[in-house]
Order: sequence, then C-alpha cells, then structure tokens
Amino acid sequence: MGIEDKVPAGILLTTVEYVAGYSRMHSVWPATFGLACCAIEMMAAGSPDYDVSRFGMEYFQATPRTADLMVVAGRVSQKMAPVLRQVYDQMSEPKWVISMGVCASSGGMFNNYAILQGVDHIVPVDIYLPGCPPRPEMFLNACVALHEQIQATPLGVNRVTAARAAEAAALAAMPTHQMKGLLA
Ligand code: SF4
Repeated sequence: MGIEDKVPAGILLTTVEYVAGYSRMHSVWPATFGLACCAIEMMAAGSPDYDVSRFGMEYFQATPRTADLMVVAGRVSQKMAPVLRQVYDQMSEPKWVISMGVCASSGGMFNNYAILQGVDHIVPVDIYLPGCPPRPEMFLNACVALHEQIQATPLGVNRVTAARAAEAAALAAMPTHQMKGLLA
C-alpha cells in the first residue's frame, strides 16, 4: 500500500502504527453518497446540533478519489449496486465502509428482488449501524467506533498476519443459515 508496508516488525513498527492510526482516525473524509431516508439522518449529523466536524469529518468529498469513508445510507437497489461498487473502487486506500440502517445491512423491510439484501454482498463493511433510521447520535457513535478500529489497524507484516487470522476465523465460523435465534 505504501512505505509503512516496508517497515520491519518490532518496536519501530508499533510506533509507526500508532502514529499512522492516530493521524488516520482524525482525518476521515466521507464520500458524498446518500441512497434513501437514512441519508437525511447522516446529513443531520453535519448540522450544528450534532456537529460531526468535532471528529474532523465535516468535509464530505464531492469525488470518491479524495474520500476514504463510504457511508451506505439507505437501501441499495440492484441497479445501484454496480455504481456503488464503482464509487468504492475509486476511493483512495485505505478506505472504510459504514452500513447505515437496516436496509443497507440486510435489505430491511424490502425483502424483494429489486433490493440488495445486504451491502456486504458487494463491498466489505467495517461498521453495521442498526436502526430505521439510526439517529444522528447513533451515526456519531458509529464514527467513534470506526475511529477506534482505525487506531488499532495493524500495518506491514502485522497487517498480513491479522488478515490471515481473520480469513481463517471466517472460514471456521458457523454458516449464518445454521445459526439459531432466541426462539429456536
Ligand atoms: S433503514 Fe429505514 S430510514 Fe433507512 S433507508 Fe431503510 S427504510 Fe429508510
């Protein structure tokens, strides 16, 4: 990805990781991207009442090339899916995704052929934000959780090790169709 991938493991990498994570978590720039009613709550988070600029995130980018956060705010139609993926591909690395609202995360009440049943079918999601719609306070809370995740993101060889461990855990996990709810 960058020069940080060339840094050898050890104390030096730990320090670089901390500084890089600290810098990144305070300079996340979202792409201007809203799909449905949830986007109104996302926009409200930028108003003086909620003031997302406290987290350095008030500058919604007009082009994906200068954005590193995609907030999928609303349901994703099948027609919109390739467009969403193209916007994601054009965003700069490293990049993150917040799935805002039940529609983006699972299709919500729109259990039909026209709506994607979860945006994680086409892009990797870092934070799932529940609700219909989630309040701006919940969006701010998701931003704080994402910042903590960014701060703890490993670099270089540590990142490779973490990615392998995550893939192994995903392969060993129980398939969702075998999971039982509270009423099972
Ligand atoms: S979760 Fe609710 S508010 Fe958000 S897009 Fe779906 S229907 Fe609209």
